Amino acid sequence: MKPSVLVVEDEEALATLLRYNLEKEGYEAMVAADGEEAMLAIDERMPDVVLLDWMLPNVSGVEVCRRLRSQRETRNLPVIMLTARGEESDRLRGLETGADDYVVKPFSMAELIARIRAVLRRIRPGLAADQLQYQEIVLDRVRHRVTRNGRELHLGPTEYRLLEHLMQYPGRVFSREQLLDAVWGSDVYVETRTVDVHVGRLRKTLMTEGGSDPIRTVRSAGYSLQS
Ligand code: CA
Repeated sequence: MKPSVLVVEDEEALATLLRYNLEKEGYEAMVAADGEEAMLAIDERMPDVVLLDWMLPNVSGVEVCRRLRSQRETRNLPVIMLTARGEESDRLRGLETGADDYVVKPFSMAELIARIRAVLRRIRPGLAADQLQYQEIVLDRVRHRVTRNGRELHLGPTEYRLLEHLMQYPGRVFSREQLLDAVWGSDVYVETRTVDVHVGRLRKTLMTEGGSDPIRTVRSAGYSLQS
């Protein structure tokens, strides 16, 4: 699965350039032209990282960052601020509002990509790791194998992808729609209750050798890997 980046930038030419370069580097890029649009886009589909322009019309970049930090679902969403040269105090405030890093305009694409990689590595080691672990469950991406307490579990392809997604973000609650997008893809039409069916199968398989149920059902919200 490609890491996804939401670019929040009102300068169309820069937004287009960013999108082009991110896609070239193997990222999935989405663009929002202002803060409101950004919040809607995030609500609809959680990106892996947000590139947030400091100067935005209506809702400022700082305000967007503050809102993201105040909501449980987006509290740990990595944010890189894009600031103009000379906004030194702004830069500081940017980090105080919870941005993970900042890049000063004009920046080179190589520098920006390196920062994105660094933030993703630091915050979501799961995106790059060959092996994911949650308590006694280990998912080996190279061998495509899942074990619990060292015993191999046999998951169907959908259950495997579902587990892989949940293990990348332990503790985060995903709605059925978000899981559909992440596991089945946003261009596929699948009913949301299909998610329940596969979560049920995944649970059953995870508990075949005993152990507690690691998947929490959050009433009217969705699912989360959380014991
Ligand atoms: Ca701007």
